Amino acid sequence: MPADYQNEIRLEEPHRFETNSALVAEPAEGETLIRIRRIGVCGTDIHAFHGRQPFFEYPRILGHELGAEVVASQGHSDLSPGDWVTVEPYLNDPESPASRKGKTNCCESLRVLGVHTDGGMRPYLTVPTTKLHRTGKATLDQLALVEMLCIGQHAVNRSFASPTDRALILGTGPIGLSVLTFLQNRTQNVAVADISETRLEFCREAFGIEETILVEPGQSLEPSVRDAFGGELPDLLFDATGNRDSMASTFDLAAHGARIVFVGLFQGEVRFDDPNFHRRELTLLASRNATAKEFGEVISAIETRAIDTSAWVTHRMALADVPAEFPKTIADPSLRKAIIDCD
Ligand SMILES: [Zn+2]
Repeated sequence: MPADYQNEIRLEEPHRFETNSALVAEPAEGETLIRIRRIGVCGTDIHAFHGRQPFFEYPRILGHELGAEVVASQGHSDLSPGDWVTVEPYLNDPESPASRKGKTNCCESLRVLGVHTDGGMRPYLTVPTTKLHRTGKATLDQLALVEMLCIGQHAVNRSFASPTDRALILGTGPIGLSVLTFLQNRTQNVAVADISETRLEFCREAFGIEETILVEPGQSLEPSVRDAFGGELPDLLFDATGNRDSMASTFDLAAHGARIVFVGLFQGEVRFDDPNFHRRELTLLASRNATAKEFGEVISAIETRAIDTSAWVTHRMALADVPAEFPKTIADPSLRKAIIDCD
């Protein structure tokens, strides 16, 4: 068992982390104490740091992308001390209407670890045992990427993508790339669009994407999107920008009968023209978080090497260095994914 007290890194207010000594919580019935080994830095953490995450309450311990090790479980558990696990950080109420329908990812009273409740930027954490997913083969770094990859897997599952789909991904940050990772298993006809040429280059090099579209602000994307698909428009569009204008533009870039999936979130109204929506008979889907089943699918894809995660991590820092290193790391334009190393 760990020491009674541990150093937690807490975001006290925007732009200010502090290290606090706090008691390590004992696991209650149905809970497991885990040792945090790796933490992925997510867009949510960055927004919270800048004070741009609406309805976010401070102080908060961030960290929801976790590679961890089991210390001890209380009550029934298939886990053993030393097992490597990742955490499904979506704490749902099993009795809620959405949970009863299997939609644990968007439960009415959902609390996300590290967002609505304190997360993993600390050496030890207790979590419901049912939210732990074990691996025998994935590395700790890979475990810290699982939650982010699940966002892509869930969006692709929502879309019912098939080999005949011509698909466009708008936005190739980590979320767009996680969509791309799993979409490529469903269809080979994928184009990506972004405002960053560096990111597009990464899609060409790491994912072999031939059709990459540079987005020029204020200019219609339609001609270049048609170019990418032999003069036609795509059947399936994923918006991973969280940008209002980009999301609104998808209605004009979609083929008749197409599906649009909003993976990125914009905090406000996105408007569309209803006759345009009807004329094309579009299907619009939101995608939020992921389910336990998808955590299993992603871990299995990593273990069987069906997906390659080797190029994701560009930055690393130690947990104790977060207050000093975090601001510098997230300001670096070459950042793709940062990992906090707790060992
Ligand atoms: Zn995340």
